[in-house]
Amino acid sequence: MADCIFCKIASGEVNARIVYEDPETLAFLDLNPQAPTHVLIIPRRHIGSLTAAAEADAGLLGRLQLAAARTAKQLGVEGAFRLVTNNGKGAGQSVDHLHYHLLAGRKLLWPPG
Ligand code: AMP
Repeated sequence: MADCIFCKIASGEVNARIVYEDPETLAFLDLNPQAPTHVLIIPRRHIGSLTAAAEADAGLLGRLQLAAARTAKQLGVEGAFRLVTNNGKGAGQSVDHLHYHLLAGRKLLWPPG
């Protein structure tokens, strides 16, 4: 998607602080961190949100979660982290490219606000 900021990060057109990558997924630091560790995990291929994913994306969705777990281990926060996606504007989604927030390094309240 030409005007998608996360597609531009995936293609290397826009810089990001990448902490994990494989052929299908990418993890990079959030520009506006909400916790000491705040990483975004995205598919390289554009999918607008979780509800835009298709049956054929099942493997990719699983690999995104494995990428998140690997990233958590790499950053030393595998014992306590939260993985969350905001799906739709009403839930706070501001970038229309599927992404999971990996948050760690502070007390994480439940339920989230
Ligand atoms: P959401 O509001 O759930 O769609 O999350 C989008 C996240 O993307 C926010 O936490 C932003 O801080 C983050 N963000 C937006 N642009 C960039 C960027 N260029 N590099 C890193 N993080 C970004």
